[in-house]
Amino acid sequence: MEHIVIIGNGISGVTAARHIRKNSDYKITIVSAETKYFFSRTALMYIYMGHLTFKHTQPYENWFWDKNRIELKEGFVKKINTNEKTLDFQDSSSISYDKLIIATGSKPNKFGWPGQDLEGVMGMYHKQDLENLEKNAPNNDVCKRAVIVGGGLIGIELAEMLRSRKIPVTFLVREDSFWNGVLPAQESAMINEHIKEHHIDLRLSTNLKEIKSDENGKVKSIIIEETGEEIFCNVVGLTAGVTPNIDFLKDSKIETKRGILVNRFLETNIKNVFAIGDCAEQHEAIGQRRNIEAVWYTGRMMGETLAQTICGNKTAYKPGHWFNSAKFLDIEYQTYGWVFSERGKKENETYFQWQHPKDFKCITISYDESTRKFLGINTFGIRMRHEIFDKWLTQNKTIEFVLEYLADANFDPEFYKLHESEILEKFNKENNTNISLRKKSWKRIFSKS
Ligand SMILES: Cc1cc2nc3c(=O)[nH]c(=O)nc-3n(C[C@H](O)[C@H](O)[C@H](O)COP(=O)(O)OP(=O)(O)OC[C@H]3O[C@@H](n4cnc5c(N)ncnc54)[C@H](O)[C@@H]3O)c2cc1C
Repeated sequence: MEHIVIIGNGISGVTAARHIRKNSDYKITIVSAETKYFFSRTALMYIYMGHLTFKHTQPYENWFWDKNRIELKEGFVKKINTNEKTLDFQDSSSISYDKLIIATGSKPNKFGWPGQDLEGVMGMYHKQDLENLEKNAPNNDVCKRAVIVGGGLIGIELAEMLRSRKIPVTFLVREDSFWNGVLPAQESAMINEHIKEHHIDLRLSTNLKEIKSDENGKVKSIIIEETGEEIFCNVVGLTAGVTPNIDFLKDSKIETKRGILVNRFLETNIKNVFAIGDCAEQHEAIGQRRNIEAVWYTGRMMGETLAQTICGNKTAYKPGHWFNSAKFLDIEYQTYGWVFSERGKKENETYFQWQHPKDFKCITISYDESTRKFLGINTFGIRMRHEIFDKWLTQNKTIEFVLEYLADANFDPEFYKLHESEILEKFNKENNTNISLRKKSWKRIFSKS
């Protein structure tokens, strides 16, 4: 019987294993150096915040793996020998495989800052990072201040975690406005304001120079590059992005760039070796997507797709229209299709924007100025329906259509204040149009065409 070995028990590796089991009788082994059982990485923050226990983040009961004949091996893979088809572990053990799936995820970026390996400095990626945070920042007596370096989605989660224990936070962000390489200026400015409202000391256009140690090798302070200012702190969170976790492949024959290079079938340059999830890098980007996509649902999709191929139904990875969602403290964010920041926007792309006068709510709709084709939408503080935007993007609807039927797309419960009329009024005024809003129709919402 063929032996399928999967390195990594995150969403991509586990999804591949589950779907291979559904469709075959192969022997399956999942290897992980982090935890024995799969857990939801995206829920890590809620453990520290006291909303969940670690057990609550495990989607499957411990008996699930035995019952489904999926073997779990704990250990760190040090080397892959693709000629012999074996894996060597840190503890000197080894196993052989017939087909190998590498799903080793990401690791937090470290840019060689002096002091980056001191006690009290951590990323926020692995379960061990959370344990480290719990040890170094259990409360605001032990941790008088934390400094977070890098203003992305994980940085803002870490800030929220620390603030939930009333630990003062200084947040160093290289850009002159939060996440403005991704978000349009209106949205980025709103998030800046929201961060400050949460009593977070947001420092824009600010870089870390070094982390200083006390006499016991623990973090004492950081120095700011631009001003030389010293900020005393007990914890430094490094959240300046992530990189594929593939250092252990250095001496192998598997072709890598920033990640493990794969084709549309998630095959590497070596026969019977595949890569999925955060560690995989497409040779050529799919549409406007990045070559490496470090998000949960694409890991799951790659796992499902590859399981088909491994079970004899060769299937290309086709992720469809881009979407994503996240939370900036109290503000929910959703994006469908492509809305680029002012910097990333192409010549033909233009925005229609609306912002609530008092609340932290806004939308940006991106469309093609000449054809009026709808390209994408960002919403903050307003929940939208994924399937509707997916359909409208596939059907190449116009901006005018999207506004006319906007009520169909809204997912907020009935008792929420709805803003479609105000949004449409602004569009009509700016564009000299006379579009009127259609009443929400469940029939249209659930129709496929
Ligand atoms: C705090 C946080 C919040 C996030 N929130 C969101 C979100 O809201 N939405 C979203 O879409 N995405 C989010 N992400 C990103 C998302 O979690 C990742 O894209 C996803 O978990 C990657 O899954 P993966 O299976 O590719 O890898 P991983 O989940 O990283 O799993 C890889 C596993 O392989 C193990 N491993 C690595 N190397 C070896 C080795 N040599 N030997 C043995 N084992 C090894 C690792 O220890 C790890 O357990 C978040 C990430 C973090 C850290």
